[in-house]
Amino acid sequence: MAGKAVTLLERILRSRGPALLRTPCFSHYHKVTRKAVMGSRLQAAGRGGEGDAHNTGRALDIIVYAREPPQFEKVSIERTIGYRLVDAFMQAREDMRWNLMIYDQEQWDENGISSVRIAKPGTTGMAKVDHEHLTHIHIQFAMADKDFDEFEDALVGWLENPYR
Ligand SMILES: [Zn+2]
Repeated sequence: MAGKAVTLLERILRSRGPALLRTPCFSHYHKVTRKAVMGSRLQAAGRGGEGDAHNTGRALDIIVYAREPPQFEKVSIERTIGYRLVDAFMQAREDMRWNLMIYDQEQWDENGISSVRIAKPGTTGMAKVDHEHLTHIHIQFAMADKDFDEFEDALVGWLENPYR
């Protein structure tokens, strides 16, 4: 179950975030009908193992494509929105207390220091797309802060600041 930090972040983004986040996006193909099944752009549950930050309720994935499917090479028109969110999270970092953010071949640690995140040579297909986070922003909280939920005003201020 998601902690209070993730639950609050999801609620703020759903109500005050960019309109794109309220549109559905592709989730997966239905096992029987093979039709595309659509899902939410805000996903707290992860597909990783038990110790995964999502499965301990302290991470949120925000689906905002940085690259165009299905090749994931060309820049997506959604990427501008992705970077505006990354920027708002950076500005609100100390108020929010997140400790890791990943998007489009880059990651930021608990001090906001960025480093490049590129898959090992030879990694291809969805393994590369997943590792490099070309489809979503991953943002997570430390175990000690997973129920910290006093950042609403700070984050909303940055989300709605037209001058940043
Ligand atoms: Zn994630």
